[in-house]
Amino acid sequence: MCHCGKQEKLSDCCGRLIEGDDLADSAESLMRSRYSAFIEKKFEYLQETQDPQTRSILDRAANEEFALAVEFSGLEILFSQEKENKAVVEFIASYRDLKTNELSKHHEVSQFRKQAGIWYYRQGKMQVKKQGKDK
Ligand SMILES: [Zn+2]
Repeated sequence: MCHCGKQEKLSDCCGRLIEGDDLADSAESLMRSRYSAFIEKKFEYLQETQDPQTRSILDRAANEEFALAVEFSGLEILFSQEKENKAVVEFIASYRDLKTNELSKHHEVSQFRKQAGIWYYRQGKMQVKKQGKDK
């Protein structure tokens, strides 16, 4: 099973994209491959798939630090929609802090943009869980 949760081998799924053998055919598969790249610590890929327009805001050091400090345990795609050259993917990535053993969920709504036929991750917005009672 691939890291991203699909019933395929990593090398037949996200690995193909990460190794540059194939391009993501959708924003969602790009998102999945970026999740797998985090696990595989392919930081170069995370940078390459970042939208050239927003690449300057990418904090590569912070990404690397995070990836090395946690162990991911699952990806859940909640919502995925494409419209022409733009897409939105909402997901939850579960992980465990290797130091504290604490389990956490990274809930994000990501924006993607297609340029010259290639999907790029543009930016993400963290969804913060409300504490206490709802309403
Ligand atoms: Zn995959």
